[in-house]
Amino acid sequence: MTAKILDGRQLAGKIKQELKGRLETVKRETNRVPGLAYLLVDDDPVSKHYIAGKTKACNEIGMNSFVEVLPANILEEALLYKIDSLNARPEVHGIIVQLPLPERINVHRVLERVHPKKDADGFHPYNRGLLFSSHTAIVPCTPKGIIALLKENQIPLEGKHVVILGRSLVVGRPLLMLSLNENATVTICHSKTENLKTFTRSADILVAAIGKPKFVTAEHVKPGAVVIDVGIHQVEGKLVGDVDADSVSQVASAMTPVPGGVGPMTVAMLLTNTFQAFQNALADEAGATLKPTSHLGR
Ligand code: NAP
Repeated sequence: MTAKILDGRQLAGKIKQELKGRLETVKRETNRVPGLAYLLVDDDPVSKHYIAGKTKACNEIGMNSFVEVLPANILEEALLYKIDSLNARPEVHGIIVQLPLPERINVHRVLERVHPKKDADGFHPYNRGLLFSSHTAIVPCTPKGIIALLKENQIPLEGKHVVILGRSLVVGRPLLMLSLNENATVTICHSKTENLKTFTRSADILVAAIGKPKFVTAEHVKPGAVVIDVGIHQVEGKLVGDVDADSVSQVASAMTPVPGGVGPMTVAMLLTNTFQAFQNALADEAGATLKPTSHLGR
């Protein structure tokens, strides 16, 4: 068997085209466009590379982007002040604080400071809580992109066993909730899981988000399973994932490539989340709807 490739780049391109059209329509009607702001602490080249990709995607669809690089020795209070000022700017609808932050900065305090309505990454505890209770929320981009890619390829989740390797707040945990919302049966594994292959080999859909190059091999995969590779690593000048694509492609029925799978979907979902936040802001301004976050009064 040679696995079908789940082309995230193609779907992301389609989503961006749709957003571009919707954005042009809203711009004609309101003379407003969405804006996404990035705060980057320290001039880390890898983070700068990620941000460059995201700002390029904003430009492609006509969305404004604002990047602020802050010194590595910035005080936590000064970073919080920066977030407050972005929260107050009406032309900013989404705010991203690039992670990781220096260890001396309390990441939870920082993420909580981003207004929940401008939380383009879906990392604020309020949005996480909404996801936990199956309500509509701003959902973290990578798991949201995975679900969209599965749906686009008519891969049903209902009744299926989804096994997720990795329990991070960015990928594993929100994907657990999204998969449950789709009526999947979900198992989540982590570094302390014993007999890992027992779990992975029972997966109809196996998601690898562990941060270890080519960790998942054909031996982990049930024949015919769908494999989603979240990992991204530079190995000997080549991009590879958490999945050993050469061996797994011989047993899986479908899998995501690296690059061109989950990565582009993450960026597309970031734009989608920002557009959603923009529309919510317009509706709030018009007093048209009562949004679930309104009682926060912030
Ligand atoms: P993370 O925060 O480092 O978490 C890694 C998770 O994997 C942890 O829960 C860890 O368990 C678990 N783990 C480690 N070794 C394991 C093992 N041998 N067996 C089972 N589980 C194991 O990582 P992350 O932020 O979720 O990211 C994971 C990977 O995805 C990274 O390569 C990252 O660069 C990539 N990523 C890609 C995108 C994209 O858009 N393509 C987005 C986000 C992340 P413990 O909890 O027990 O430590």
